[in-house]
Amino acid sequence: MRSLQGLATARGFAVGPVFICRGDGSVPVPEYVLEPGCEEEEVLRYRRAVGDARRDLEGIVASLKERTGRDDVMVFECHLMMLEDAELSGAVERRIREEHVNAESAVKRVYAESRAKFERMNDPYFRERVRDLDDLERRLLAALTGFSAPVHRGLKVPSIIVADDLTPSETVQLPRDLVLGFATNGGSTTSHVALLARAMGIPAVTGLGDITSRVRAGETVLIDGTNGTVTLHPDAASIREFMDLVERDREISESAVLGAPAGTLKDGGEVPIFANLHPGVPVGGLREHGARGIGLYRSEYLWLNRGHEPTEEDQFRAYRDAARFTAQLGDDASITIRALDIGGDKIVRGISHKEANPFLGNRSIRYLLANRDMFKTQLRAILRASAFGRVRLMYPMISCVEELDESAEVLAEVKRGLDAAGVAYDREMPVGAMIEVPSAAINADAIAKRVDFFSIGTNDLVQYVMAADRGNESVASLYQPTNPAVLWLMRHVIDAARHRGIKVGVCGESASDPVVGVLWAAMGVDILSMSATYIPVISAVLSRLTRADLDAYARIPVEMGNDVTAREIYDRCRAWLAEHVFDFENIVL
Ligand code: PEP
Ligand code: MG
Repeated sequence: MRSLQGLATARGFAVGPVFICRGDGSVPVPEYVLEPGCEEEEVLRYRRAVGDARRDLEGIVASLKERTGRDDVMVFECHLMMLEDAELSGAVERRIREEHVNAESAVKRVYAESRAKFERMNDPYFRERVRDLDDLERRLLAALTGFSAPVHRGLKVPSIIVADDLTPSETVQLPRDLVLGFATNGGSTTSHVALLARAMGIPAVTGLGDITSRVRAGETVLIDGTNGTVTLHPDAASIREFMDLVERDREISESAVLGAPAGTLKDGGEVPIFANLHPGVPVGGLREHGARGIGLYRSEYLWLNRGHEPTEEDQFRAYRDAARFTAQLGDDASITIRALDIGGDKIVRGISHKEANPFLGNRSIRYLLANRDMFKTQLRAILRASAFGRVRLMYPMISCVEELDESAEVLAEVKRGLDAAGVAYDREMPVGAMIEVPSAAINADAIAKRVDFFSIGTNDLVQYVMAADRGNESVASLYQPTNPAVLWLMRHVIDAARHRGIKVGVCGESASDPVVGVLWAAMGVDILSMSATYIPVISAVLSRLTRADLDAYARIPVEMGNDVTAREIYDRCRAWLAEHVFDFENIVL
């Protein structure tokens, strides 16, 4: 048995066989165990790939012969010979038949062994052949997968997805019912894949370093997304312990739903808790976890799910249905629809452009203001949906007041168009700004004058304040929501909202960490919004505290001052909660 520690990215527990999506950066390679009786079909698929690779190589040889010298051609002739090598091909076919694995797995295993053999040889000629093997392996894998094949091809039984990393669009394409959990080498707790896993209620552990090379397709692993561990080859005792955790987790979720509305304090005060929602992900879990509404509807997933632009009607139907669903969550339930937040790692083919530094590039509101027709289409769809429920509109990535002034003009123009056409919409639809860029946070007072509410996006705010990529596990230690600089800025934004009399929420995932989420509530945030699966935990902690307790809690980092580390603040806050919430450790598992 072996336990790997990673980042606790999406809470929950899962046990199941491994399905590996391995990529070399451009070609994602699935690895899986074949269904019984499919071996001969798989051998034929392998032979077809060898044929494709041969045709490619022959084409290269022919065109090189015309244009260049003999040496270049020799490399590819050598690849052709290796491709025809009966020993190599025989070994791949044997693996498929005897180990019942897909052709990609067999190729990877056989080529890894041959590489090791060549590497051990003293002769430089043979050592050089390692590079040829690499090349040939890549060619074969590309022929097998087809460059456009989905990463989950071959996923037939519910499995734990093990990958180097996955893009948001790869993740949304995965069949939800066949994904039990995620375990990835890279990634972080706020990467978009992580958020999607949370939204789908799928446990995930990221930042594991090299899990793809430690597991084999088909073997059973345990995933604990609450504590960030993956157990390989689990024994009976660890499975029992695991099942205990699963049971306690279920009890916390159930008790939270049976109790007072999410975010109710011990003295009856409240900091309502809403859910973040990705379109395309089932909404069932929201009610189950006690969400009071939808605090962040990430509209860009309508684009990511389709891989192209949805029409106004597509959008209208999605927003209207979400608004209707939200109305069932309670009389005061509202849905905050965020305008398209495309860019960064949220790439849509045909819409996104390659940029050297996409997180600082033409994304979100910048993109919308530069593509007015698209912006207007979305605003029309959102306004039309506002006739069907309490809809709020929110602009992402605001960095200066001009963006809000321009957006207000576009919105006014769209409203005039709807008026002229006699289309119903909510004339009082609140309009808010996300505060996730440092310039907007610093200039919060001027921003607050122009909007009806703030929602602080700590996922991005922390990344931009700390200059630490939210998705890069190698700088995860610098991604610090409790850094004194971040806390200073948070206080500044909350004060600005108070001063201008508008509500302020937090919709970044930091709110789902009990230590940090309770801190935002204590510092004066009006609403918390997070992945639904985390609501019961934060709600349980808040329900054991009074407003006076929260005031005392908010004073902790203030009294510690600025000359302290984020970790020191975090640990002091955590210790305070452990002391004042009698069953804290039990709640957070
Ligand atoms: C944020 O940045 O905190 C946020 C909620 O938006 P997203 O995670 O979608 O960038
Ligand atoms: Mg953001």
